[in-house]
Amino acid sequence: MTRARAYLDHNATTPLRPAAREAMVAALGQGGNASSVHREGRHARALIEAARESLARFVKTQPKNVYFTSGATEALNLALTPGLELDGNKAPFDVLLVSAGEHAGVLQGHRFPAAAVEKLPLTPDGVLDLAALDTALARHAGRRVLLALQAANNETGVLQPVAAAAGRVQAAGGALVCDAVQAAGKAACDFAALGADILVLSAHKIGGPQGAGALCFGAGRHHIADTIVRGGGQERGLRAGTENVAAIAGFAAATESLAEAGAIEIARLARLRDRLERDVLVSAPDVVFFGAGVARLPNTANFAVPGVGAEVLLMALDLEGVAVSSGSACSSGKVKRSHVLEAMSVPSALAEGAIRVSFGWSSEEDDVDMFRIAFAKAVETIRSKRVKPAA
Ligand code: PLP
Repeated sequence: MTRARAYLDHNATTPLRPAAREAMVAALGQGGNASSVHREGRHARALIEAARESLARFVKTQPKNVYFTSGATEALNLALTPGLELDGNKAPFDVLLVSAGEHAGVLQGHRFPAAAVEKLPLTPDGVLDLAALDTALARHAGRRVLLALQAANNETGVLQPVAAAAGRVQAAGGALVCDAVQAAGKAACDFAALGADILVLSAHKIGGPQGAGALCFGAGRHHIADTIVRGGGQERGLRAGTENVAAIAGFAAATESLAEAGAIEIARLARLRDRLERDVLVSAPDVVFFGAGVARLPNTANFAVPGVGAEVLLMALDLEGVAVSSGSACSSGKVKRSHVLEAMSVPSALAEGAIRVSFGWSSEEDDVDMFRIAFAKAVETIRSKRVKPAA
């Protein structure tokens, strides 16, 4: 065994890829403000525009449709507004539909009045209930509907029926904003496959740096009447503020690495994850896997062992050198009940034990070995200490 730690929390954030680090160091060394006209400024501008082209190739749109932000949360806040204008239609969106499993960046970040927002249920497998979407669209007939639907869930990895939902919403005159943060590099993640009107990406989920994201539009004209960060007009007025050139360059380098690895990497991640799930079953035959019956990301396992609390298991694994997550990543530090598992009707006693293991570019077989040994030990220790109920 060669590793000191097994980092199995890639859905929370990924280690920086060497290619991204190199690109960032080079950009930092070069310096320059992309708005300046001198050579240094032009170099910074060239890095940003090359990055825009990388992102555009990745999601299959034109570079002019890609806007850099501080992350996916900002991009979601920016896009999810009644003031979003697509194809020259200036009529405000009346209704925001969100799937119940969306990230907090959608659930808390949108800019619609509370009365205009409707949450759509998930099936027990964690998939958006398309029949409920149809019902909602019929109910809102004649109104402009925006649907926020993620490509893949960050907790369970369950893939969402984005293309099917986009077809329905667009046929009703609405539009779909897709949080594709977790799908990038692990599942279909472009306009052709997803059919969305807008895609949102985050650099730090793909081996790029924290603090960079992208708001990408598909074909057609677009505008946002009520932008958030206003000032010097950067990013063609949609997102002011001096660009984070190094982070953007790192984001692009990570994106290029994803595009190169493709299907081979997806298969490799699935092998690691499947092996880990088999190991979990051996140590805890009563384990319950969430979302495992439907199409899901190749890198994510989410499960609970009845009677074994997530917090104590997570800490026991951490002491053994294994980093995993409980609940959603953005709530780590405190273990709170998962709204995703709740939407899947998982009983709360079981949901409180949910652990998420997520692999990524730096994961290897050694990590699975470390997890297997640490998990078997932790489960045995926790269960042996459990007070048996009186007969
Ligand atoms: N959407 C999903 C599905 C995520 O997993 C995350 C990060 O946890 C975000 C959005 C927010 O991304 P960022 O950290 O770039 O704001």
